[in-house]
Amino acid sequence: MRDSLTTLFRYWEQRRRVFASRDQLEHFQEKQVRRLLRRVVPGSDFTRERFGILPWEEWQRIPVMDKPMLLQHFDRLNTGGISREEAFAVARQAERTRDFKPQLQGVTVGLSSGTSGRQGIFLVSREERCRWAGTILAKMLPRGLLAGERVAFFLRAGGNLYETVRTRCLQFEFFDLMDEMERHLSRLKRLLPTILIGPPSLLVELSRLVNEGILHLPVVRVISVAEVLDPLDREVIESAFGQVLHQVYQATEGFLGATCSFGVLHLNEDLLIFEKEFIEAGEGRFIPIITDLFRITLPIIRYRLDDILVPRRGPCPCGSVLLALDRVDGRCDDVFYWPALEGAGWRRIYPDFIRKAVVEADGAVRDFRVRQLSPGEVELSLEGAATAFPRVSEALLALARRNQAQPPVIRLANGFPTRNRDQKLRRIERCFTPEAVSGPLA
Ligand SMILES: [Zn+2]
Repeated sequence: MRDSLTTLFRYWEQRRRVFASRDQLEHFQEKQVRRLLRRVVPGSDFTRERFGILPWEEWQRIPVMDKPMLLQHFDRLNTGGISREEAFAVARQAERTRDFKPQLQGVTVGLSSGTSGRQGIFLVSREERCRWAGTILAKMLPRGLLAGERVAFFLRAGGNLYETVRTRCLQFEFFDLMDEMERHLSRLKRLLPTILIGPPSLLVELSRLVNEGILHLPVVRVISVAEVLDPLDREVIESAFGQVLHQVYQATEGFLGATCSFGVLHLNEDLLIFEKEFIEAGEGRFIPIITDLFRITLPIIRYRLDDILVPRRGPCPCGSVLLALDRVDGRCDDVFYWPALEGAGWRRIYPDFIRKAVVEADGAVRDFRVRQLSPGEVELSLEGAATAFPRVSEALLALARRNQAQPPVIRLANGFPTRNRDQKLRRIERCFTPEAVSGPLA
């Protein structure tokens, strides 16, 4: 009951919060940062150390934090007095038994999916959980709270974090991605969701069932989360459900962005501050450094994400002052590194360019994986076109030539790499770490 009320309050607060100008937004952000620091700094030794002798007003000069740093300094970073060992023990126990009730001192502990090999951990208090639920509802419910929506939310074991919302006018059911499709189907047929939220790879599976006439759902909105949305999948999902696909851009580190009514992704600058580390000339692609204005238990202040974002050219017709994105272009870890044709350096090829090369080489390709196994080796998996391999490999070689990189050896894989149901789908993946490359792209 207390949870529902807090969630409702956050929902209402979020619905009212609209900014008329960038100035107004930035003023709000500054005010919230001061409030955040007042609450975080006294209880977080590590944050205090990052400040050193800097005054709070100069918070944008404190050293940037990343995932390894967060894990290393976890005990002294969080304000809940929780050690990394006990947090991992509780979270692993919950994953093993798939019983997500256990908490530590009222704080939910969760593991992130750890696609990059190193599992992350997050802490969320009751208050933060309700805020998360309230804001996500405020941003994503097309018809408001009273329309009696029934929401089916497919996620990898998220536990308590995702089970909060159950009011009389809203049903919110959590589906564990690890469950069998059969079980999903029978639950879906019982719930008849009006809103469907899940990773694109799952939504594609459901789209097939819809197309085959096995599944009929009265959905008014379909929302993609958790994985990079590939235009190939977008097309399949949009045509099966007959509507614009919406997106929630969310990571362990927070609720980062959401689509507006036009289906354009906007960063949640009303919840976080995004500093931009440009990796491309002309204010193009950038890596976001985020500061979450409302996370106290595990403070996220000047934290570098692993994502590459592509800003949208020109304003969005919805008129929002929140920064509009063209897309999330994969993860820094998946940027291909090809040895330069001349000299000892590397040529960086963004996932987006790889994907374009593959898809445009042969229109019949329905699905693909491209994995860079080593500096000179690329492995391809292709579905839908038996004859596509020569054309696709030629396109990749041309890409290497255009970028003055040594041409890689390209092999056709025997089928697709196996993936557990709870693993994120990555179509473009770099499977090695170049020696000279450490930390962020520079
Ligand atoms: Zn918009």
